[in-house]
Amino acid sequence: MTSYSDNFERNFETKAIRTQAERSQHGEHSVPIFATSSFVFQDAEEARARFAGETEGNIYSRFSNPNNDEFIQKLCLLEGTEDGMAMASGMAAMFTSIASFVNAGDHVLASRSVFGSTHQILTQVLPRWGITHTYVDINHPETWETAIRPETKMLFLETPSNPALDIIDLEFAGQLAKKHGLILNVDNCFATPYLQNPAKYGAHIVTHSATKLLDGQGRTVGGAVLGTSEMIEKVRFFARHTGPAMSPFNGWILSKSLETLAIRVERHCENALKIAQELENHSAINWIKYPFLPSHPQHEIAKKQMRLGGSMVSFELKGGVERGRKFLDAIQMLSLTANLGDSRTIVTHPASTTHSKLSPEDRNEVGITDGLIRISVGLEHVSDILADIQQALHVSGQ
Ligand SMILES: *Cc1c(COP(=O)(O)O)cnc(C)c1O
Repeated sequence: MTSYSDNFERNFETKAIRTQAERSQHGEHSVPIFATSSFVFQDAEEARARFAGETEGNIYSRFSNPNNDEFIQKLCLLEGTEDGMAMASGMAAMFTSIASFVNAGDHVLASRSVFGSTHQILTQVLPRWGITHTYVDINHPETWETAIRPETKMLFLETPSNPALDIIDLEFAGQLAKKHGLILNVDNCFATPYLQNPAKYGAHIVTHSATKLLDGQGRTVGGAVLGTSEMIEKVRFFARHTGPAMSPFNGWILSKSLETLAIRVERHCENALKIAQELENHSAINWIKYPFLPSHPQHEIAKKQMRLGGSMVSFELKGGVERGRKFLDAIQMLSLTANLGDSRTIVTHPASTTHSKLSPEDRNEVGITDGLIRISVGLEHVSDILADIQQALHVSGQ
């Protein structure tokens, strides 16, 4: 059996497939699900040594489990990080990755267009413990340095951003974090480790919602916190005692999902690029944004740090909120749902759904205009995806 470390020098696809937990005495080819809450010790000494942290091994599935370990070992090899921990959801990962490090009085610097619930953590949850934040403007990184205070502990970023698909220069962010001794934490959910590895640019922590492309079939909720050994030691302590553990069943699903990550993400990106190119000059839309279209404002940065342009396409429909609603109603095959990164293409209209409670001014601040449509491009045949979008553009204009 290949041990985890043997895969270190192998290629992405091979690491994703050939990183496996040890086989049991049954010699199974596929890893079984370790549906157990605890693990047995051979004797008193083994129990003592494990609890003391002197020997490796599982104790209790809130701390670790072979399925979650396999998922995390794989993900670490793919991201180029030293260690990690599986989490029950992407938000468990985001919260744990911040809360493991900040103390009362500390300050977090974050890019403005973070995921909705991350925004709630920063603005509603952490202030209850005296932890403040400042949002920096993605499009003006030269202003970030002035926002750093003596009590600033962490720089939290998301690139590409949701749903505006803005791109942050990770090399710049890595240098800024290093210069000021900040912990750089990057939510790499939209890109996945196949397209971008923030650790290469100096990110100390890389977070994921595994619910999205890592699983890729919209069937489980999960997350991960990855990073340097030093960082993950703190994360492990915090998580072991606060309990955001992933279920072994989800760990098993996600480890299997990673086997096809490269091939899936490649096709997602190929489909997304074709759709972006086809719609770019459509008369019903004001603009379209896709990181690998030359018209994207940060196209050069995207090309520098991403292998391909990703699975998300955003465009602004002419005719505002009303046309957006009509467009959704005219969609025939694609899914109207809140998820992304699924094999099935998903269409959302943030202004009338996820972000409808925000004022138009607040929406504008995060790049959500009234007619903004976000497409999570799936793995159906690209001409069928395109045909549904095009007929809905036509019908919504009538
Ligand atoms: C979905 C998402 C999350 C939250 O993940 P869950 O698995 O839904 O908890 C965090 N960040 C980004 C960028 C996401 O898309």
